Amino acid sequence: MKQNRIYYGGDYNPDQWPEEILDQDIPLFQKAGVNLVTLPVFSWAKLQPSEDEYCFEWLDRMIDRLWEAGISICLSTPTAAQPAWMSRKYPEMLPVDISGLRRTHGKRVNFCPNSKIYRHFSTRIAEEMGKRYGKHPAVALWHVANEYGTYCYCPQCEKEFRQWLKQRYKTIEELNARWNLAFWGHTVYDWDEIVIPSERNDDYRFYQPVYLDYRRFMTDSNLNCFRAEYDILKRYSPEIPITTNISGFIQQLDQMKFCKYVDIAGWDNYPWPTDPPARVAMKHDLMRGLKHGKPYLMIEQAPSQQNWQPYNVQKRPGELRRISYQAMAHGADSVMYFQMRQSIAGVEKFHSALISHAGHENTRVFREMAQIGRELSAIGGQTVGAVTKSQAAFLFDWDNWWAVEGSNGPSKDLRYLEQVEKYYTGFYKRHIPIDFVSVEDDLSGYKVLAAPLLYMVKPGFADKVRNFVREGGTFLTTFFSGITDENDRVTLGGYPGELSDILGIWVEETDALRPEQSNCMKGLGTPFQGSFSCGLLCDVVHLTAPDTKALCIYGEDYYKGSPCVTCRPYGDGYAYYVATDPEPRFIDELVGLLISECGLAPALDAPDGIETSVRENENGRFLYILSFQKEDTIIDLSQTGKHFRNIVTGQKAENKLLIKPFDCYILKEEI
Ligand SMILES: [Zn+2]
Repeated sequence: MKQNRIYYGGDYNPDQWPEEILDQDIPLFQKAGVNLVTLPVFSWAKLQPSEDEYCFEWLDRMIDRLWEAGISICLSTPTAAQPAWMSRKYPEMLPVDISGLRRTHGKRVNFCPNSKIYRHFSTRIAEEMGKRYGKHPAVALWHVANEYGTYCYCPQCEKEFRQWLKQRYKTIEELNARWNLAFWGHTVYDWDEIVIPSERNDDYRFYQPVYLDYRRFMTDSNLNCFRAEYDILKRYSPEIPITTNISGFIQQLDQMKFCKYVDIAGWDNYPWPTDPPARVAMKHDLMRGLKHGKPYLMIEQAPSQQNWQPYNVQKRPGELRRISYQAMAHGADSVMYFQMRQSIAGVEKFHSALISHAGHENTRVFREMAQIGRELSAIGGQTVGAVTKSQAAFLFDWDNWWAVEGSNGPSKDLRYLEQVEKYYTGFYKRHIPIDFVSVEDDLSGYKVLAAPLLYMVKPGFADKVRNFVREGGTFLTTFFSGITDENDRVTLGGYPGELSDILGIWVEETDALRPEQSNCMKGLGTPFQGSFSCGLLCDVVHLTAPDTKALCIYGEDYYKGSPCVTCRPYGDGYAYYVATDPEPRFIDELVGLLISECGLAPALDAPDGIETSVRENENGRFLYILSFQKEDTIIDLSQTGKHFRNIVTGQKAENKLLIKPFDCYILKEEI
């Protein structure tokens, strides 16, 4: 089923209200331009009051009434929150936390992903829903459960983990070798001797190879829950796309693996008020990367306040529109909210909604949402399916994230995401579009590949990088890279392991600086001049290839004078290494250098604080311009040599474009 408009709407929980609430809500949805609502995400208890009793009639009426009003349905299975009777009768389905405590009923996403009882009931209700609604014309999308991500440490999970390991490693000898269990005499002789991570062992991260595999296993366990429902729904409606919503940017599940199995990626965008725009943009780009550049859905965002933040800062006038346009600028084909009507009690009663506790449309938030609805309606389906064409890619790898932050040493302050964001920001500020790729993705077609803090190098990836650079690509990586294999075993023969020959360096050792300490980097003329501060980690680097050049050296400490930024020509390309954590000013200069050397150019040159991007499809090229500036800004469109038309207002946009704070434009290139 082809999407023909930008989905606008979101989570609706009418089962929290008397049914007559639809008489009030439907006209308000229409006023706001809502064209899709998601339901019944948390209604399992109402749909299945007891083990052998289903109650769908109320949902039939709601779906029919919404559909008659011109509103489509993103139909969710309710399997994120099982009914109380189910938890009571089958307590083994409740998850056990890492301290060994079994949870009681309540909350949501509160099930063991390996529970056979959960799997039985969740697939049964998916079957009932597939059968009942699989051909209903209102259903535009299937949505499975909600925000997967529970880790469980129960005896059933332990049993399944051993099976999972058997499949992965085949023999106990291989497991011992891959986990290096000879360390501290951990060798096992029988699969049943394997124990899962536990806080009862004081520090559950004490043995990283085990925890790393447990994280992979938990991704697979949650994925199996999703896939079990997916397969059923697909049988009933093969033409309807199936998605699930990723809870923000979570570390728990390997989303690159998870999203191989969804038809369209979807996520919940809840930025903190203090998040810089580049951080939000980066997360959107990563979501687009989950399906190799295909558009995705923004399934949730808050209309204004987010109740779970310590200070429920309101979105300022215009801010909601801007974050909505920002999502679309990076590849979202929906603007959806949590939620449509504000709850009267419970943990989310102060989470903002389209229809607030006031119950009418005369609110600032409603007016702003209705304006967005009108604009999306004017845009129609023009931009749907449009893609971003990028020549620069960032590698992102969940296993690497887990391994870096699970490592005991060299610094407790190491954060993978933080390092990726620093370099991403350099490109963002220069309006260069970025794709996120996994180690499995094809790199041809990119001119630049950045892989900050690539601690874990998986089998075959170094060869991929070698070919990429040999064929003319520019590769950038940073300190503490090339250290381990996919089991967190150190690659012997000197750091950065398999990347050493490409970079033409040997890292003899790595110094960890305390937060109050710093060093400095001194440029050696061209391309870097002057001095830049650095900290966190300082690799002590030796040049090992005659053509490796030091571009900067350390200015202090016993390794003063040794290289801290290097570049090696390799084949037709270049490989850069940044051996420490520089101040942003340096990263900005380095990114500037890479951009000019690789001939990357932004679609539009604009000042910092103005975000620009381009999406294109069979309808044309669309230029998105958003202001994060505090003052009015003039953008000179004539630099592009093209003519544009505003796709919301239909007006021409040429030469000087005045953009006010918070304002956003989508301009279509005229042919
Ligand atoms: Zn479990």
